[in-house]
Amino acid sequence: MQKSIERIAGDSEGVSYEFPVFRFTGSDKAASSAYLQAALHAGELPGVVAIDALMPALNKAAAEGRIKGDITIVPWANPIGRAQYHFGEHQGRFHLGTRTNFNRAFPLLAAPDAKLLPDTAFGGADQRLKSRLVQLSLGHDIVLDLHCDDEGLAYLYIHTSLWPAMADCAAAMGVDAVVLWSEDTDGTFEGASIMPYQNVPADVAKFDRRVATTVEYRGILDVDGALAKADADGLYRLLVARGVIADSTLSAPGPFKGVVAPLENIDMMPAPRAGAVLYDVKPGDRVVRGDRLATIVHAPGETDGRAEVFAPQDGIILTRRSRRIIRAGEDLLKLVGDRKSADARSGTLED
Ligand SMILES: [Zn+2]
Repeated sequence: MQKSIERIAGDSEGVSYEFPVFRFTGSDKAASSAYLQAALHAGELPGVVAIDALMPALNKAAAEGRIKGDITIVPWANPIGRAQYHFGEHQGRFHLGTRTNFNRAFPLLAAPDAKLLPDTAFGGADQRLKSRLVQLSLGHDIVLDLHCDDEGLAYLYIHTSLWPAMADCAAAMGVDAVVLWSEDTDGTFEGASIMPYQNVPADVAKFDRRVATTVEYRGILDVDGALAKADADGLYRLLVARGVIADSTLSAPGPFKGVVAPLENIDMMPAPRAGAVLYDVKPGDRVVRGDRLATIVHAPGETDGRAEVFAPQDGIILTRRSRRIIRAGEDLLKLVGDRKSADARSGTLED
């Protein structure tokens, strides 16, 4: 394993950022290659500890000559967000200098060619970071971007062009659900990892082996040794299933048994009032239309001080908030409905 240090120039003199990259060189040039990164949203740490738990297995495979395809690992992909604190609270989701979400405004290239990347010499540090992450990931057959939600199940975002071909990956990772999307107008990292392959020749696109996904490893507080080990085992099974690592002790993953739904089926459930949230449901719960999902206590102690929110359709609770204070219009939870949502805001990636 080789470790190198990436350096990103800051936006003023004397400031720069660094992050390590680990590389394993595969023995078989025909084998699939893999790129894994975690904590692009810099405070989302389940993927960071999963990678930490995965590394001993990769080092063992390397020592035994079982690494077939090249593997590139960026365990903490966002040194800018990692260093951002505002009045003592970590701020890892948006770049404070530009208010841009760290998982938006990635360049969506017309083809998988680093020469097409925009010139970032006069851009900001966050743009330089994004350009560099795309450059590091380009050319890998498998690209995994490890995130987490607020409170939630383990689930994957997958572009429709890769489904059901990626069902073995979802099964190998042991996630609970898969959300399928088709349009990225905002430039997520996942979008930057799959859109360049949409309009290129089949021998470049290689859709028979391509993997790109945003992995949502449950909730922000699910940073836990046992979960990290289980997630590392899932990542390892995926790498073996796709031939990046040879391991004859593992059998092929079975069929994926979790929930699969298009993004259009997600109801985001905005809060009608500001207040304290009392949830009736938690991630994984099955609900039917009309079930109460939550009560907002907006005027405590008053007769009409509560507002109730009900399920607009049958489905499963995918996520909910980790904090219990809410403003009117903010989202209470994600409900994966059995049918298309009536909510016009569904249909965009929310990682
Ligand atoms: Zn995220």
